[in-house]
Amino acid sequence: MSPSSAHRHVLGTAALAATAALLLTAVTTGTADAAPGGRDAAVARARANVARHADLFGYGPGQGLVLKDVVLDPDGTQHVRFDRSYDGLPVVGGDLVVHQDARGRLVDSSRAKGHDPRVPSTRPAVPARRSAAEALRQAPGTAAAAAAPELVVWAADGTARLAWRTTVTGTGKQGQPASRVVVTDATTGAAIDSYDAEHSAAGTGHSEYTGDVTLATTRQADGSYALIDPVRGHTTKDAHNLSANSVKATSGTLYTDADNVWGDGRKFSADRATAAVDAHANTAWTYDYYKNTFGRNGIKNDGKGATVFVHVGTDWDNAQWSDACFCMMTGDGNGSTDPEQVDLDTMGHEMTHGVTSATANLRYSGESGGLNESTSDIFGTMVEWYAGNAVDTGDYLFSDQSTPPWLRRFDQPSLDGSSADCWSKKVARLDVHYSSGVGNHWFYLASEGSGAKTVNGVAYNSPTCDGSTVTGIGNQKAAAIWYRALTVYMTSTTDYKGARAASLSAARDLYGANSAEYAAVGAAWSAVSVA
Ligand SMILES: [Zn+2]
Repeated sequence: MSPSSAHRHVLGTAALAATAALLLTAVTTGTADAAPGGRDAAVARARANVARHADLFGYGPGQGLVLKDVVLDPDGTQHVRFDRSYDGLPVVGGDLVVHQDARGRLVDSSRAKGHDPRVPSTRPAVPARRSAAEALRQAPGTAAAAAAPELVVWAADGTARLAWRTTVTGTGKQGQPASRVVVTDATTGAAIDSYDAEHSAAGTGHSEYTGDVTLATTRQADGSYALIDPVRGHTTKDAHNLSANSVKATSGTLYTDADNVWGDGRKFSADRATAAVDAHANTAWTYDYYKNTFGRNGIKNDGKGATVFVHVGTDWDNAQWSDACFCMMTGDGNGSTDPEQVDLDTMGHEMTHGVTSATANLRYSGESGGLNESTSDIFGTMVEWYAGNAVDTGDYLFSDQSTPPWLRRFDQPSLDGSSADCWSKKVARLDVHYSSGVGNHWFYLASEGSGAKTVNGVAYNSPTCDGSTVTGIGNQKAAAIWYRALTVYMTSTTDYKGARAASLSAARDLYGANSAEYAAVGAAWSAVSVA
């Protein structure tokens, strides 16, 4: 169910070898620098500084320092961050930062409220299961489960007490993970604190195709941000260039980031998050298009979001939707002219396959297969119009960003060398990506009319198969008619003749049987030889 089936190939050991090499690189570059002024030296000096200035840091018997982060300024100044432990237990609110000059001499300190973690005993009087039961009572969403309660020293408000910390995870309305952390006193059983483990956040993405965009992300319990859209429920993952089948088995890796700023805005980027920016933003645009235009609540109209895998395969110049995993797979392009397959109309196209599956379920062969593909092209393009992006403007070209100058076009589909402009008996035998031409041509004529026209700076010239002149009704009305035809009248075996009848019924419902819209729909079908 891809924009083009021509480039498909099966992937195996080559992709696995590439992933192994990648992991090896990550391990190698992760080796710390032990030279003076380097990271390891800074950490060693910081540990010594905390011990030497124990009063300043509240550092005493039973405590440990757990390295969390190191920031080295350009002038050599060092900032070493630690979490604190007490009797081996994590101290919540016990973190501290050691500020040192370039030679490791202490110049300042920062410490959280919980700098005195001493508790009378680190043996809990209240059993873990009581804490877990309390946590489950506070669980968000449905299908909640509690992780094993963790014993901690809770000192976030400055008063240290032994506590159980339990994370409960449920499923939110959009199918997204919804987690809550519940803290109870391990000596008295009293509730101490309860807070969302994840927070919705607005990230900044430097995209490949649409400039800088806002991303709906989620703040996780560990403070990092993830490409989980808390509004729409979409999750974006790295497939590590494994084949589609391997990805379904391994499930990829969720994208996370420390500062919620993602990608570098380049095509074929070495930053693997860049393609993820486009994928995450463009699935959101598709979701919003359906919701705000037609009131459709997600692909299946059940409010649930899908998973998007980017970097699937090696030089896989394609993308696809799978009902089985309720997920999209996107490739990295062909390695030379075509970059990552994650642009607006491509993502809209793939998600629309899910919408079609959930509605008319047009069989993916013969004329119904062509209508299935055409439906994805139509709404993929409409997502582009809906987004109103200044870089990737609305047009009647399909995959113009990721397969430049375009993979298919609507005004005269045959310009790609394979697609049909006009219906004939031969159309049923074409590949579905070419028999879609008849539907795409209809959509252009119904939207913009026949003949030469320049729209948003792109020159089109749409012929008619019967020499007639067609006047368009605009693409919003044509798309509304198509959406109603798809969701109300079409069935799995609808052919082009049936599509004409379905769209006329839809036009009648929306605008009346005597309307200009109804007349234009019929005229456009006649103009592509569907009588
Ligand atoms: Zn497709």
